[in-house]
Amino acid sequence: MDFDVIIVGASFAGLVAAKTAAARGLSVAVIDAKREPGARVHTTGILVREAIDEIDLPAHLTQKVPGVRLYAPNLTSVDLFRPGYAFYTTRTAALLRWLADEARAAGAHLLYGVRFEGARAEGNGIRLDGIDLRARYLIGADGARSRVAQCFGLDANRRFLTGLEVAFEPGDAVDRRFLHCFLSASLAPGYIAWAAPGPDAVQVGLAVRDGRKPDLAAFLDETRSLFDWDARRIIDRRSGLIPCGGPLRRTSAPGVLLIGDAAGWVSPLTGGGIRFAFRLGRKAAAYIADHLLNAGPAPETLLAREVPALSWKRAARRAFDLVPPDPFVNLALSTAMVRKAAERVYFHRRSAQGVDREAYRQWLEKEFGKTAALPDRDSSAPRLV
Ligand SMILES: Cc1cc2nc3c(=O)[nH]c(=O)nc-3n(C[C@H](O)[C@H](O)[C@H](O)COP(=O)(O)OP(=O)(O)OC[C@H]3O[C@@H](n4cnc5c(N)ncnc54)[C@H](O)[C@@H]3O)c2cc1C
Repeated sequence: MDFDVIIVGASFAGLVAAKTAAARGLSVAVIDAKREPGARVHTTGILVREAIDEIDLPAHLTQKVPGVRLYAPNLTSVDLFRPGYAFYTTRTAALLRWLADEARAAGAHLLYGVRFEGARAEGNGIRLDGIDLRARYLIGADGARSRVAQCFGLDANRRFLTGLEVAFEPGDAVDRRFLHCFLSASLAPGYIAWAAPGPDAVQVGLAVRDGRKPDLAAFLDETRSLFDWDARRIIDRRSGLIPCGGPLRRTSAPGVLLIGDAAGWVSPLTGGGIRFAFRLGRKAAAYIADHLLNAGPAPETLLAREVPALSWKRAARRAFDLVPPDPFVNLALSTAMVRKAAERVYFHRRSAQGVDREAYRQWLEKEFGKTAALPDRDSSAPRLV
């Protein structure tokens, strides 16, 4: 079967790209080794505000979380939020099913249970090994350890965090206003541990730098005094590798382009990749459509201008890898300077300009039923009560 574009990987990057390419008039096939959309989810699936702005998701797939409660290793915490900003926890499997439906509705053919084993150039296209599929263009959206990259001798991710998470049945032990993030050199060296109130579950996990094994049991023990884990049932488990070396350089060959995790589009510091998968996955497909349909410029050249270098996040990653000792972090988190830096990481450069602070305070109270003390300025909030 001949297509204009074959996409390997029906996840965030691949499905968004499929929808755009098909909507612009290309014939598109997407293959994925999984047996169905939303199977074996490996991600926490939290969307930052920028990701939500990229794509109009049905509201019932997400739950808004306005703030971050950041814990030092001694479990003292600071509350961070920026009026107008929010994170969105998701019904992740349902979100992936929705993205698949959107791609199908645009005209893409989705083939599940089909593994990419290899491919070769043939004429002015690419033919897949072992399956009767051929295309003018091949997109590798096949994740952190991309077979497409390997097959075409493209750059591969080399640095990873290892993430592990369980989902507890929902309840109100975890304050829904916050992503609860834990800094700890002993428990989560090189990254953080978290408890995130999701729409259907409380997601609790941690990620650690290369070569370590995440010890989730130790983290649950450590936080038992804050959250009553024993009273809850575990209903799901997720785990996976998070590329943290930043965007890769050689991500294209003639007729082939990597996108998403396969291209290293993940923040080296926060490990977030869905936002880039949405934004750049869509752009990549639009450039390929323009290239194939209108003799537009080479897609990789246009895309290279859009992929952020994430330089300061790479530098911050190196600092994080040094794993500052716990007593130092305990002390540092009590300083205004470190809290400011944390706000920059969590809220990017978003300002709260134009937000009516009193209206925001009332909204917090209405949505979350608790009294909110707002700071005068746009800085760390005193603890919400
Ligand atoms: C534990 C963990 C927690 C995370 N939490 C967050 C978070 O909260 N927010 C956030 O923004 N990011 C998070 N990330 C990162 C985020 O999940 C990724 O950036 C995102 O999933 C990348 O999407 P993608 O489409 O590029 O690749 P993936 O989601 O990895 O999808 C790749 C797809 O390719 C398919 N595939 C792979 N190989 C083949 C093959 N040979 N043949 C056919 N199909 C194949 C796979 O089945 C899969 O469906 C997390 C990652 C992990 C591991």
